[in-house]
Amino acid sequence: MITIDGSYGEGGGQMLRSALALSMVTGQAFTMHSIRAKRSKKGLLRQHLTAVKAAQQICSAEVTGAELNSLQLTFIPQAIKHGNYKFEIGTAGSTTLVLQAILPALLFADDISTVTITGGTHNQSAPPADFLQLAFLPQLTKMGANVELNIRRHGFFPAGGGEINVTVHPCKQLKPLVLIERGQEQQRFATSVISNLPSHIAERELASLQTKLGLTAEQCRIQAVRALGNGNVLLLAFADEHVTNVFTGFGEYGVSAEKVATLLAKEAKHFLSSSAAVDEYLADQLLLPMALAKGGSFTTNILSDHCVSNIHVIEKFLAVKFNCQSQSNNVLIECIYQDLAISPAII
Ligand code: AMP
Repeated sequence: MITIDGSYGEGGGQMLRSALALSMVTGQAFTMHSIRAKRSKKGLLRQHLTAVKAAQQICSAEVTGAELNSLQLTFIPQAIKHGNYKFEIGTAGSTTLVLQAILPALLFADDISTVTITGGTHNQSAPPADFLQLAFLPQLTKMGANVELNIRRHGFFPAGGGEINVTVHPCKQLKPLVLIERGQEQQRFATSVISNLPSHIAERELASLQTKLGLTAEQCRIQAVRALGNGNVLLLAFADEHVTNVFTGFGEYGVSAEKVATLLAKEAKHFLSSSAAVDEYLADQLLLPMALAKGGSFTTNILSDHCVSNIHVIEKFLAVKFNCQSQSNNVLIECIYQDLAISPAII
């Protein structure tokens, strides 16, 4: 039984999702205490509970502590089953984060799976569904996976009601990913997604981004969507030779459209001023697939607490070590497989 202190480092939900994913893939049981101890609302919220129950269903796990607000969970997995799954969060909780917990297992199932998840598709502090489509999944494809994600309906906080549909083809072994340079810029574009709000919000966000990042009108578009409630997200994508990075700003009451665009432009400029291949979010999300591939490396502009905590969890389940090395204007993260069958003989 692997024991994990959920208050380590970042102390957030990602440690739980990574533990669920790795437990399912490796067949190792775990217990986590102090779940999400560093968040203002501690323990399992609806989104985390949905992830636990989804993981439980997919691998017929024996689980204790799967209750709202629970600070402790024990998870004993069995074999992964492919299937057609539907998970409802029941709030605007993030559908993409529920997917983060179960996707690795479904990659190692013995046949194709489909997953429908309802809740939020564009949440603060979570990857927007577009981020997965444009930034994360293309890297997974390079590693040999075949995953399609469709946004059936947008869902924003607090109304929710969004839906993603994901098809996961099995993949026997992921291939190591090496992503040191982002390469030549191919294109940059911005999309303001808007639901049930005046269109001038999107227009002003895009006008502001045009000035700050030298975007042309052709590189900007407004995507008006039908969702249960109000919502606005500003997405900025840099499609480079080897990787696409996506930056996100969230429209909020009391925050001007110009301010949303200014903060987003600042984040993007920080990234562009480095030579890093991936931004801090894609960085923490690539660690787990990379470890399952038994190796790989990438550069990022920020070594986030999410990265550090995720590494801590991954190294508990898999025979890998991560090296993080600051370079002149980026951080190099390398995943090194420790062949346990060989090391005792060396010693
Ligand atoms: P946690 O805070 O522990 O629940 O983890 C949040 C997860 O959401 C991490 O994997 C982050 O990389 C991801 N995330 C948060 N904000 C963004 C964003 N703006 N774009 C992409 N991913 C994000």
